[in-house]
Amino acid sequence: MDLFEYQGKQYFARYGISVSPGDVADTLEEAVAVAARVGYPVVVKAQVKVGGRGKAGGVKLAANEAEVRQHAGSILGLNIKGHVVKRLWIEHASDIAKEYYASFTLDRPNKKHLGMLSAQGGVEIEVVAEQDPDAIAMISIDPLRGLDLATARAWVDEARLDEPAREQAAVLLVQLYECYTKGDCDLTEVNPLILTPQGQVHALDAKVTLDDNAAYRHPEWDEFRATETEDPREKMAKEKGLNYIGLDGEVGIIANGAGLAMSTLDVVNQVGGSAANFLDIGGGANADVMAAALEVINADPKVKAIFVNIFGGITRVDEVAKGVLEALGRVHIASPIVLRLDGTNAAEGRAILAPHLNENLITEPTMLDAARRAVALAKA
Ligand code: GDP
Ligand code: MN
Repeated sequence: MDLFEYQGKQYFARYGISVSPGDVADTLEEAVAVAARVGYPVVVKAQVKVGGRGKAGGVKLAANEAEVRQHAGSILGLNIKGHVVKRLWIEHASDIAKEYYASFTLDRPNKKHLGMLSAQGGVEIEVVAEQDPDAIAMISIDPLRGLDLATARAWVDEARLDEPAREQAAVLLVQLYECYTKGDCDLTEVNPLILTPQGQVHALDAKVTLDDNAAYRHPEWDEFRATETEDPREKMAKEKGLNYIGLDGEVGIIANGAGLAMSTLDVVNQVGGSAANFLDIGGGANADVMAAALEVINADPKVKAIFVNIFGGITRVDEVAKGVLEALGRVHIASPIVLRLDGTNAAEGRAILAPHLNENLITEPTMLDAARRAVALAKA
């Protein structure tokens, strides 16, 4: 799970990492109130889970209330790479002497952690990596040994951070590593990590990805989860444990396997329709999963037809067919369902459904036929 910047900064603060005082605001009035509290000048920052907010106009300095109103007004509702800004983070503005870059991520092939540190921060690290790869000091950290202060000191020397920043940066890197490991993160990134003209080292941005496999030991992550997705359909799907992504079209899609689900979207597009969602019910789809999938799609008012595309492998089509019938007995489905059933036990599956077929429960022999039928029904 990715965190918003403000959540990442809250997470950092637990490990003693220096961040600016600030608060979230969802309206102009809240923004003004927060700014007054943290003290001018302030930075008004779009809270979206995508990088490059600064370049997109989502990060603005404000010296007074009028400027807070102006910038908060322009940033709220702004669309940054497909993410609409609904929330702002307002913090006391920092003076910047230097911008650095620091991060920890997994180095999977080597079974180590990878630390990256650069005296060239504030720009995308991919750009630095391409134009001046020597400007990034990388260290490989054995998870059993961890990162001690002596190693961090050598690391900041190697990265040639400015002298006044080195000791504080070394301490901060150890804290960031603690946050990354004890906090069960897949990524902690600070860009920029700054040195102020007053000689303070400070995290000005926070990018944190939590390792969902560790969620069981972090009940406190629930508050992050609450803001994770604003799409009510995705929220509902998540609660039911489904792999679902909401889209804008009118044909609801259920497929087994991510690859087949993707192809199903393509085929629906190819015949002139558009998908309402991506939904992979995975292997061994039983009645519970099918009922949950149909329920989530049914709750989407844009859906006008449902295309169930199953290619049985380990998943047996007769089980899927039973699942569909059981699901239909449990939930009332508003849209017609078109099924394409192929693969393991397909004939048995079709036989199970045969007595129940009607204008709202239809089977088609091929994926293309089924897509055409579903799209036609959606447009009817
Ligand atoms: P990003 O563009 O999404 O990575 O957002 P950042 O939080 O990194 O902000 C982008 C840029 O805005 C930073 O690299 C800084 O140059 C600038 N910025 C952010 N906060 C401050 C601040 O408190 N003071 C000043 N002077 N500049 C800031
Ligand atoms: Mn940044």
